[in-house]
Amino acid sequence: MSPVDLTVRSARLRWRGEWVSAGIAVEAGRVVRICTDAHLPVADRTIDARGALLLPGAVDTHTHFTYGRPDRTDIGTGSRACASGGVTTFVEQAASTPEHCPPTLTLPSLEAKVALGRASSVVDFGVHGGGCAGNLAEIPALVRAGVAGVKVYLGWNPVGEYTACDDATILAVAERLAGTGAPLEVHAENPSIVAEATRRLKEAGRTTPDVYTDSRPTVAEDDAVGRVARLGRAAGAAVHIVHLSSGFTLPTVRAARAAGADLSVETCPHYLFFDTSAYRDRGPYAKVNPPLRSRAEVDAMWAGVRDGTVDFLASDHAAPSAEKAPGAADIFSIPPGFPGSETMYPVLLREAFAGRLDWDRLLYLLAEGPARRFGYYPRKGVLQLGADADFVLVDPKATTTIRNDRLHHHSEFTMFEGWELTGVPVRTVSRGVTVAEGVFPGEVPDLAGRGQFVPARAA
Ligand SMILES: [Zn+2]
Repeated sequence: MSPVDLTVRSARLRWRGEWVSAGIAVEAGRVVRICTDAHLPVADRTIDARGALLLPGAVDTHTHFTYGRPDRTDIGTGSRACASGGVTTFVEQAASTPEHCPPTLTLPSLEAKVALGRASSVVDFGVHGGGCAGNLAEIPALVRAGVAGVKVYLGWNPVGEYTACDDATILAVAERLAGTGAPLEVHAENPSIVAEATRRLKEAGRTTPDVYTDSRPTVAEDDAVGRVARLGRAAGAAVHIVHLSSGFTLPTVRAARAAGADLSVETCPHYLFFDTSAYRDRGPYAKVNPPLRSRAEVDAMWAGVRDGTVDFLASDHAAPSAEKAPGAADIFSIPPGFPGSETMYPVLLREAFAGRLDWDRLLYLLAEGPARRFGYYPRKGVLQLGADADFVLVDPKATTTIRNDRLHHHSEFTMFEGWELTGVPVRTVSRGVTVAEGVFPGEVPDLAGRGQFVPARAA
């Protein structure tokens, strides 16, 4: 029998709720064997894991690598950040600034974004579509071509022809998604509630970072979630709420599901690790939409993450430009957003090592959950026979301190600056190829152009 391409031995794998000592064999980029070391086949290359945890690579279904100035962010730097942080598949959002490529509203614009990814990504990727009044006729073709879902904006135009939707347009988008399995995705904040709260604060001369949460109250999120869930249910479409921020909204999520809505929810690490005290500590850098919430809201979000009301995590990675610097302007004129793809897996590992988050729940939240919802499972999101050999080795004893200037994401800050972690990635492997090596943040070899586009819901 000829040797397989790769084996990993002396690893610890999660198997039916337990840790087991085992290894895997990889052939042509796929997992072909999961067994004890003694039963591993002969291989061209062998990685000795030395007792490290062998975990599925994360699937980050919310990235904005093509939204912003190309000298600050692009798929090349974003995908290197993914590799370093154990993200082996990212799904790029529909909005993009024209200097990168057009927003994903038509088949040619999807092809342009896929071409950019193929040319510059080091890991595999998917793409989200966008929906608005101007592209309703394009949506079926986008779905057939494998966009993960179709995202709508309620309040503002993310870019040019990608316009915000009124309720009738959301319903029309949902009707075109019914029965396809591709979710209607929504940034859920009621725009008129946000506009009025913002107007009142500005009128009172209150424009410092600490008032920002008051400008986007939880009722704005709660109302939007309930409304879009109803529209999706009426049309027979799946609905996905991106970056949910408030525990206040969770009862509405449960009620919509009880009424029959096919509703999923993601949240982001920053809504679990930071509260409004971050405005004091980080000033304008703490601006993100939706905003950071009170400690009670954060605690409620953790409960929702543990009990399954929140389906999975995503980073909402963005790299806003220099205008975020303190004192540059009032909080309302500063760009929102945090980088997050590179740090997501490491900071969640901390919770699992500390016993605050069940290991199987962690792996579902970061890998299997997003892969299932957006149609990448079982090729992505799990380590099982036939799946892509996308995995991360985590050394439980390896320590690191997060320093922005050591990360690969080319952002000018990270919210996790100075965090000390024990138990971090030491190697990331994508379809059998090592794409990052060394204690997080490891070295990322120049493998631009090896990443493949993964169409959603492909057989
Ligand atoms: Zn986003």
